[in-house]
Amino acid sequence: MVLSSVLGFPRIGAHREIKKAVEAYWAGKLSIEDLNKAATEVKKASWTSLQKHKVDLIPSGDFSLYDHVLDHSAAFNVIPKRYIGLGLSPLDVYFAMGRGRQAEGVDVPACEMKKWFDSNYHYVVPELSEQTEFKLLYNKALQEYTEAKAIGITTRPVILGPISYLVLGKAAKEASANFQPISLLPKILPIYKQLLAQLKEAGVESVQVDEPILVLDKAAELDKQYATAFAELSPVAPKIMLTTYFARLDSNIKFIAKLPIAGLHIDLCRAPGQLDDVLNEIKSTKIILSLGVVSGRNIWKCDFAAAIKQGQKAIDALGADRVIVATSSSLLHTPVTLASEKKLTPQQKDWFSFALEKATEVATLAAILSGSQDPAIATAREKNATSIAKRREFEHTSDDAVRKRVDSITPDMYHRKSPFSTRKEVQAKKLQLPAFPTTTIGSFPQTKEIRTARAKLGKGEITEAEYEDFIKQEIELVVRFQEKVGLDLLVHGEAERNDMVQYFGEQLNGFVFTQNAWVQSYGSRYVRPPIIVSDVSRSGPMTVRWSSYAQSITKKPMKGMLTGPVTILNWSFPRDDVSRKLQSQQLALALRDEVIDLEKASINAIQVDEPAIREGLPLRRSDWDEYLEWAVDTFKLATAGVSDATQTHSHFCYSDFDDIFSSIQRLDADVISIEFSKSDMKLLHTFKQYGYSNQIGPGVYDIHSPRVPSEQEITDRLKASLEIIPARLMFVNPDCGLKTRGWKETEASLANLVAAARKARGSA
Ligand code: GLN
Ligand code: ZN
Repeated sequence: MVLSSVLGFPRIGAHREIKKAVEAYWAGKLSIEDLNKAATEVKKASWTSLQKHKVDLIPSGDFSLYDHVLDHSAAFNVIPKRYIGLGLSPLDVYFAMGRGRQAEGVDVPACEMKKWFDSNYHYVVPELSEQTEFKLLYNKALQEYTEAKAIGITTRPVILGPISYLVLGKAAKEASANFQPISLLPKILPIYKQLLAQLKEAGVESVQVDEPILVLDKAAELDKQYATAFAELSPVAPKIMLTTYFARLDSNIKFIAKLPIAGLHIDLCRAPGQLDDVLNEIKSTKIILSLGVVSGRNIWKCDFAAAIKQGQKAIDALGADRVIVATSSSLLHTPVTLASEKKLTPQQKDWFSFALEKATEVATLAAILSGSQDPAIATAREKNATSIAKRREFEHTSDDAVRKRVDSITPDMYHRKSPFSTRKEVQAKKLQLPAFPTTTIGSFPQTKEIRTARAKLGKGEITEAEYEDFIKQEIELVVRFQEKVGLDLLVHGEAERNDMVQYFGEQLNGFVFTQNAWVQSYGSRYVRPPIIVSDVSRSGPMTVRWSSYAQSITKKPMKGMLTGPVTILNWSFPRDDVSRKLQSQQLALALRDEVIDLEKASINAIQVDEPAIREGLPLRRSDWDEYLEWAVDTFKLATAGVSDATQTHSHFCYSDFDDIFSSIQRLDADVISIEFSKSDMKLLHTFKQYGYSNQIGPGVYDIHSPRVPSEQEITDRLKASLEIIPARLMFVNPDCGLKTRGWKETEASLANLVAAARKARGSA
């Protein structure tokens, strides 16, 4: 019998119950008891519906009020000292680590967050050192297993494995210089043993141990640690299903196949080609193979025919009892259910599967592969074949004009007319910016009034014309403020944007939007990624009216503001029938037209943001070059259509450039702004070391906190930067957009920024 399994489930609840409850708790409007009650209800609902959808192996222990890695740290006593002794309850310590806390005399910043592999989910980074004393403060997996058991549902608990947990962590401040988190393995294993033994004692049959780092290059050097860890854990644990996801195992399968594990899960959506290798390696063992054939990362309906082929191949090699059909990863990265979508057309609805629909898919596939004679299963199979055929048919109806345009891209379209040194001179004449030009990253505070106006427009309570008037007033406000405070290169403030990707997706052809397809980004923050369903094109200018209105009311130069092709692609659900490269090219051509239209409208500086370019890097290094080549090319395709006199800008929300430095240079933006305020000077040294040649604005203060930087702080920051970056290349700006900030701190901070820049110019 082939069993079905789901590796993890969204935590938000079908009606965003958890987001609402957590935020209400933070606001002091909900008690701990009521928060826990909301959590219990959502967990119960998930387990019950997975059971109803006939999933055999239902996960527990994967629920979280904030983040599963943070849960793990809290349970294992990995709590940095700064959160201890503040008089907070354990739950408040947990939330303080996740999001910081500034109330009643307590003022602690949050722990660092990092992107979870190549997804837009962020985890809270564990801080480890020689002084870390692991202790099992509570056993979340056991608690949830017991909770489910109490309502008659037997689950398979999920835990994050010891090696991935350590490797995903970082050295705490107090750690010695050459401390490596993995060195704590001997210290953490006894705690894992305790945890697993408790599960076994409670009658847990099998446990899912997530070791996602096994798909990374660096796991190759951890073979001994894996051998030691699993030799110690296996004897005391329930049967271990070792789970890997998001990429291929490559040669790591060689040592994995020798581990004392009951099962192994592989991602066959991201890496279908690895099946043969894995089968070869485990054929002669007793390892059960869990096939991740239903995507946990995208929302397209699974193609049963293809999945069955892979399933059959595995059955032929291993026998049906050693095969499980599963989601490729946790369903955390997909929305809860299609049933909540009331506005999709029946045709569109037929294309997609969200988490609950995916649960049905794994169950149906398992039944098919087990040779079920149930007529309902046969019908489901036929229906799937029809849906897939219809979708393929739709996919073939490509937009010929767009395809032709992509095919006729010529090499010169990727390059500006002249090199940067020439452009810089021409731009200086045109823009007349002073030395140390001051500017911002684009957005200004998204106030309640702005959000209310947008909501009213959505509900039809105000007309399109009234809304446009309102936005114009907002633009005027932002422009007048920038003039008053003395910024040099202005922006219009992005008041018209709900989100930097959604705003463009809504205006481009080829996108579909949902009402409730929320996916967790971090903590209680959820995003609703648009879905790319067909060839992308622009039906008309998207931002020109805002930028030219803004320019029309000021003599200072206005900077146009767009989101780049790679970022739009990365923060959407992409098509899976054509390459990411093609989708990015199509986006780039649409944006290229917009850039040219902005130039025609006398916008002489244009910023194209690419904060997601790094996040899109493939997990395996050997795949990087191919990605970086098209990612950089498509950015250039979007921006290179303008004359020398137009200054192009780009912005990156991170400071980790070592790996992709030459690609940043190759973008050839006239100016880039980067997050820098939190990092040390190492970053700028990197720029110097690689001889970065274009202009650069290292963020002079951190906009992620309401704190106002003093003029002196900014001056110090500038001075230190000037030791490394030549003055003639320097821009002065905050480190990201201001949309999440309030006006008060924005005004004060930018006044100090301008004062510091003026001082640097010697004109103060
Ligand atoms: N222009 C955008 C803004 O200022 C950039 C946001 C980002 O980098 N994430 O909001
Ligand atoms: Zn940013």
